[in-house]
Amino acid sequence: MKTNYHMHTTWCDGKNTPEEMVQAAIEKGFDAIGFSSHALLPLSDPWTLQPDTVDAYVADIRALAEKHKDRISILCGIEADFITGKSRPDRSVYVHLGLDYLIGSIHEVVAPTGVRVPVDHKPELLADGIAQQFGGDAQAFVRAYFAAERDMAETCDFDVIGHPDLVRKFNGKLRHFDESADWYLEELRLTADAFAASGKIVEVNTGGISRGWIDDAYPSPVFRALLRERGVRFILSSDAHSAAAIDCAFDRFGTAEDYVASPVTV
Ligand SMILES: [Zn+2]
Ligand SMILES: [Zn+2]
Repeated sequence: MKTNYHMHTTWCDGKNTPEEMVQAAIEKGFDAIGFSSHALLPLSDPWTLQPDTVDAYVADIRALAEKHKDRISILCGIEADFITGKSRPDRSVYVHLGLDYLIGSIHEVVAPTGVRVPVDHKPELLADGIAQQFGGDAQAFVRAYFAAERDMAETCDFDVIGHPDLVRKFNGKLRHFDESADWYLEELRLTADAFAASGKIVEVNTGGISRGWIDDAYPSPVFRALLRERGVRFILSSDAHSAAAIDCAFDRFGTAEDYVASPVTV
């Protein structure tokens, strides 16, 4: 079964409309897809759904699902942000929308100063955030990122953990930490333990490849192996922000039998 439950559209920061994404999915032979617009209720940002557009988004996707039901299965989800102390990807926050699933993701790390440092927006913003908010200590930033990943997995009720080592995105350009260092591998082990204990699905996300920043999925091969050892279930997604990227690099990752977990729990 060819599926992708992580896709963005013009409802948030994607380039194409939901209809255009559906047409691309049908052309590429998908059996099922899911939309996952960004949200960080009760807050919002320019790149997310707004509190007053969330209902219209869900209605739009449900209408599209009905229209195309004979050709493809279309689910409605949200990629919800975990921002320590401010936003939680928790079913209690989104239950009124009647979604099929929730992806929990971290795009910003709250520094000890209280300032939100964007993980994946622009390399210069990340470099500036580490310099200004973490005293230039990239290891402290990375540790804070994984501590937040564990906190999210342990304390929030959602289905799929999104791009769990997104912190690698700009490492090819910035080289701000060593992915083979003992302290980093220990962070991965601790985080793999927390993910396994949570019972949540972890996505293998090819979004960094389509954007040209890294030539691998999130999580890394080392992290994937640690997760697999602990029996964690995986799901393959492209995190597509355009119709062209809907199955980006799926030929590299899509044949593995263990990428078959379904995000749908309700
Ligand atoms: Zn994301
Ligand atoms: Zn996404």
